[in-house]
Amino acid sequence: MSVTEAATHLRENPLALARAELRRVGEAFGVDPNLIAVLSECKKSVEVSVPVAMDDGKTRVFDGYRVVHNVTRGPAKGGIRYHAGVTGDEVKALAMGMTWKCALMGLPFGGAKGGVVCDPKALTAGEIERLTRRYTTEIINEIGPEKDIPAPDVGTNAQVMAWIFDTYSMNVGHSVLGVVTGKPLSIGGSVGRDGATARGVLYCIRTALQKEGRRFPDTRLAIQGFGNVGRNLARLLSEEGARVIALSDSKGAVVNPYGIDVQAAITHKAEHGALTGLPGTEDATNDELIELECDVLVPAALEQVINTDNAPRIRAHMVCEAANSPTTPGADDVLEDRGILVLPDVVANAGGVVVSYFEWVQGLQEYFWKEYEVNAKLNDIVVRAFEETWSAKERFDTSMRTAALGVAVQRVAEATTTRGLYP
Ligand code: NAD
Repeated sequence: MSVTEAATHLRENPLALARAELRRVGEAFGVDPNLIAVLSECKKSVEVSVPVAMDDGKTRVFDGYRVVHNVTRGPAKGGIRYHAGVTGDEVKALAMGMTWKCALMGLPFGGAKGGVVCDPKALTAGEIERLTRRYTTEIINEIGPEKDIPAPDVGTNAQVMAWIFDTYSMNVGHSVLGVVTGKPLSIGGSVGRDGATARGVLYCIRTALQKEGRRFPDTRLAIQGFGNVGRNLARLLSEEGARVIALSDSKGAVVNPYGIDVQAAITHKAEHGALTGLPGTEDATNDELIELECDVLVPAALEQVINTDNAPRIRAHMVCEAANSPTTPGADDVLEDRGILVLPDVVANAGGVVVSYFEWVQGLQEYFWKEYEVNAKLNDIVVRAFEETWSAKERFDTSMRTAALGVAVQRVAEATTTRGLYP
C-alpha cells in the first residue's frame, strides 16, 4: 500500500470525532462537563523519531508516537500500530477508545496507544526488528508493567512484541514479563491471546443473535479484513457452522453467497499473498463487500470504512465492529435511522485487551493458565459487558454505542471523582 493510499483512509479527524462523541455521551448520561473537559485530553503524548539502518546501507527516519490517555483506573494499556497512515491524532483517538474499552470490560487499566508511520510490508524482518528496538528505546521511560503496557495492533504481531520485551528487559537487566502483552508462548505469552479478539467478536455476535432467537447456522456473514482478527473470526465462525459469504484483504474481496471454505481461503492467502482468485468464489472490491446483502457485516480492517456515502446502501441486518472506529458518526446515525443494529467496537473487539489483561496477570504471578480457563473467563467478561450495555441501551432508549460509552465514561468519571483532582 502506498503512503498516499493509506493516508486517505481517514476521511475525518479521528480525535475530533472521539471528542465530539465523548461530549454527546457525557450530556446523554449527565456526566459533569468539568470531567468531560478532563477526559477530552490525553494525559501524555510522546512523539519520537526512529532512525533505522536499512538493508541498502541508507538510514531512514520514521515518526513514532506513544500516547497515554488516562490512568485513573490503573496502568495504561493499548496496542502499537505500524501503518503508513498513522497520525498523532489517530493515535490519541485510539488511546481514548482504549480507556473506554478497559472501563467497560471492568479491567483495572486506563487507555494508551502507539504507532510508527511505516509500511511494514515494504520492510525486511531485520529492518522491522531494528525499527522496533529503536522505537522501544525511545519510549522506554514511558512504558513498564505498572505504567503503560503495549500490545499488538494493525501491522504488528507477537514477534514485534518479543523484540519490545527483549529490548526493555535488556535495558533494565532482567526479564520483565509484564511490560508487553501479545508475546509468543515461548516467552510468557498467554494461550488463547492470538485468537482472543476474534473470539470476543464471536461471543458478541452470538449474544446479539440470541436476543433475536437466532443461531450461527442460520447466519450469513461478510468480513472485511483477513488479518489477526478477520482470519481468526472467519475460522471460528465456520467451526460454529455459520455461513461466511465474503472475505477481503487490502487487495480485494471474494464472495460466495452459499458460503466460503474458510480453511481453503487461509491456505490460498498463505500461498498467493491475496484472497482474490480463491477457487469457488467471485472477486469483488472492498466497497462491494461493505454493501453486500447479509445478516452480519463485520468490518475487521481499518477506520471509517462505513461512512455517509455507503451507509444508505448497507444491506446487512447487523454490523459488528471488529475493527476500531470503522463507522463514522454520520454513518452511525444513518444506520440507526434504518434500524440496523450496530455492535460497537468498544464491546465487540475488547476480547484482545481482556486476554492481554490475563497475560499481564499471569506474567506478574509467573503462573500460567490453561486455554479452556482463558476462554471461559473471556466469555464471562465479554458477555457481562454486552449485557450491561444492552440494559443501558434499553434503560436510556439509545444505541448500543451510546450505551457502551455511557457506562464506560461513567465508570472513569466516578473513579476520577473518588480519587479527586491532584493536587
Ligand atoms: P492485521 O494487520 O493483522 O490485519 C489487517 C487486515 O486488514 C489485513 O488483512 C489487511 O489486508 C486488511 N486491510 C488493510 N487495509 C485494508 C483496506 N483498505 N481495505 C480492506 N482491508 C484492508 O490487523 P488486526 O490485528 O487484524 O486488526 C484489524 C482491526 O482490528 C484494526 O482496526 C485493529 O485496531 C482492530 N483490533 C485488533 C485487535 C487485535 O488483538 N489484533 C484488538 C482490537 C482491535
